[in-house]
Amino acid sequence: MATQSRKRKIEHPCRWCGKEIPEWRSNKKFCDEEHKNKFFNELRKQETLELGRVNKKLKRNYEILKKVIKDEVRVKIKAEALERKGFDFHFMTHIFGDYHNCYNLAWRTIEYGYVMITRTPESTLVERD
Ligand SMILES: [Zn+2]
Repeated sequence: MATQSRKRKIEHPCRWCGKEIPEWRSNKKFCDEEHKNKFFNELRKQETLELGRVNKKLKRNYEILKKVIKDEVRVKIKAEALERKGFDFHFMTHIFGDYHNCYNLAWRTIEYGYVMITRTPESTLVERD
């Protein structure tokens, strides 16, 4: 006589608690409404945190570019010097040609180790129909 496995395999785990969904039907993903709500509340919370982290990086980059360019049209600076100020080259709002933009300010690599900070070309900020 075969001995039964002590652990019952979970066939249809709840996305919140991981336990077997009682009275499972093919469209059920949660034990109940409470677990469904908890799951989606947590998901929204994580999304908000992630957006916050990225926005913080973008804002920091923008403030650094703003301080460097002041009221000039363009400023040449060592990439390393920007990084020392806390600039993170991975974070930008959009790319247009050689321009890596952070809202309405931009940088582009001009020669090894140097970047040119400029104003974002107006055309990249215009809404398209
Ligand atoms: Zn559950």
